[in-house]
Amino acid sequence: MSDNFPFQNPEQLQQWHQGIKDANRNNIFCHCRACGYEWMDSAFDVTCIQCSSKDIKSILSWQFPDD
Ligand SMILES: [Zn+2]
Repeated sequence: MSDNFPFQNPEQLQQWHQGIKDANRNNIFCHCRACGYEWMDSAFDVTCIQCSSKDIKSILSWQFPDD
């Protein structure tokens, strides 16, 4: 089954992981359900900048639909 492994060596795999980490940096769209404030952040566990609510909807920006 190793024929299906997409990476030829561990360094490539590491670069791939690093690429994902970089892509996620400050690319999380946050929407506060309490006050409606919207901003970009780098973590999922966030508090609203405006009203300090923890009721935040977080979406990775690269998961947005293309339309
Ligand atoms: Zn808020």
